Amino acid sequence: MLTLAKEGLLTTLGYVGGQWRPAADGATFDVVNPADGGVVARVADYGADEAADAIAAAEAALPAWRAALPKERSDLLRRWHDLVLQHQEDLARILTAEQGKPLAEARGEILYGTSFIEWFAEEGKRIYGDTMTVPGRDKRILVIKQPVGVVAAITPWNFPNAMITRKIAPALAAGCTVIVKPSEETPLSALALMVLAEEAGMPAGVLNVLATTKAAAVGGRLMASSAVRKVSFTGSTAVGKQLMRQSAATLKKLSLELGGNAPFIVFDDADIDAAVAGLLVAKFRNAGQTCVCANRILVQSAICDRFLDAFVKAVATLCQGDGAEAGTSVGPLINSAAVDKVSALVAGAQAGGARALLGGGPAARAGHFFQPTVLADVSPAMEIARSEVFGPVAPVMRFETEAQAIRLANDTPYGLAAYFYARDLGRVIRVYEALEYGMVGVNDGAISSEIIPFGGMKESGFGREGSKYGIDEYLQLKSVSLAGFNLP
Ligand code: ADP
Repeated sequence: MLTLAKEGLLTTLGYVGGQWRPAADGATFDVVNPADGGVVARVADYGADEAADAIAAAEAALPAWRAALPKERSDLLRRWHDLVLQHQEDLARILTAEQGKPLAEARGEILYGTSFIEWFAEEGKRIYGDTMTVPGRDKRILVIKQPVGVVAAITPWNFPNAMITRKIAPALAAGCTVIVKPSEETPLSALALMVLAEEAGMPAGVLNVLATTKAAAVGGRLMASSAVRKVSFTGSTAVGKQLMRQSAATLKKLSLELGGNAPFIVFDDADIDAAVAGLLVAKFRNAGQTCVCANRILVQSAICDRFLDAFVKAVATLCQGDGAEAGTSVGPLINSAAVDKVSALVAGAQAGGARALLGGGPAARAGHFFQPTVLADVSPAMEIARSEVFGPVAPVMRFETEAQAIRLANDTPYGLAAYFYARDLGRVIRVYEALEYGMVGVNDGAISSEIIPFGGMKESGFGREGSKYGIDEYLQLKSVSLAGFNLP
């Protein structure tokens, strides 16, 4: 049983047009704790009709929200940020209950998540246009930035709080109204954020939350609507491509933050202890279920045995368990399908000659647990090196030269995050310039913050979240050519 200081944060109704409502057809779905299979809550299961209502509500709320002073929107976001901070512990408990990550990580995610609300409360006041030189004596040219309109934000379960705030805070700050469709695995964190947004004074219709298991029907309605002018999506590459196809009919502005296949390269001049510590974070955070998790570990031959030795010792200290229990550093995977997928990848690698130096299979306990695993002798052609693992498995391969490492690292359709450890400055510059990735951690295994632009290249998608660039995703340029004023 989930006990909270503020009971009202655990809500089971969706939120449309300023109202908490059950589904019109009365449907509900269970939100399950992945650590023990227990039902955390039964939530209203919305459908396409509620999506249509949300679009209408967001459209109706747009003129007033767009016309509000940036400072007014900023003040509201700031109040929301303060409320999130005030209720950090409850929000973290809800997050761990539905998602499984250790409470310490959940608390960190609430801080990370609300850092975007704070950041964009400030950025919203700093939207600047331009003036240009003139093409004729009687003309003046200026460029203004305006909110793009109604935004749909479709988000995944691995960061049930932060993936939402990273999208909706810049959208709201820019003057857009928003419809959020959280993952069916983790709707409670989204709804809890909405409770606090309402308490902060969010006007009816400005922010709407569609909890649903009918992702295709709800997504289809959002994508088909000509009122929805922007879609920001984080999730799988397959669904991202589908949304892009669906958006063609109405040519929506898109941000797609899709899958990754992050290389983590350790060169022979690296500080090995630092690389082990960085990899521990980059690999095992959220039980390996992040799109920037190290997915392929490439280690230069001369130091590979030494590195593996130190790394296996470090991984052996991780403590797997229910995220709500003190001391847990690796929680469960999100569901049984995830355990099956990771098991198949590991079994396939072992059949091809990889060796499990630690772990290697599901943990012998209830819940969706896969043991922290280190695989040696992995080769680039194995499926585990080609697809996103999304589990606590570190596949390690050897390489000989810098050029080979770069070639291997770039040999993937993905291009989200990459990491490498090296100390030679020339090598550092050569390698970060050559990596075809939207984000590169150099001697750094934890790259995310509200300050750094987050986003990918190639089939990891496009658009940037956070940073000074993030708000541009929710703005459009308007060029104004002024003439007819009898100018000199
Ligand atoms: P993951 O594998 O991480 O769950 P998905 O891409 O399946 O990634 O899910 C990310 C988000 O996309 C979730 O909110 C999910 O419900 C939503 N989603 C899945 N399929 C569709 C779809 N056909 N249309 C719109 N949203 C979808």
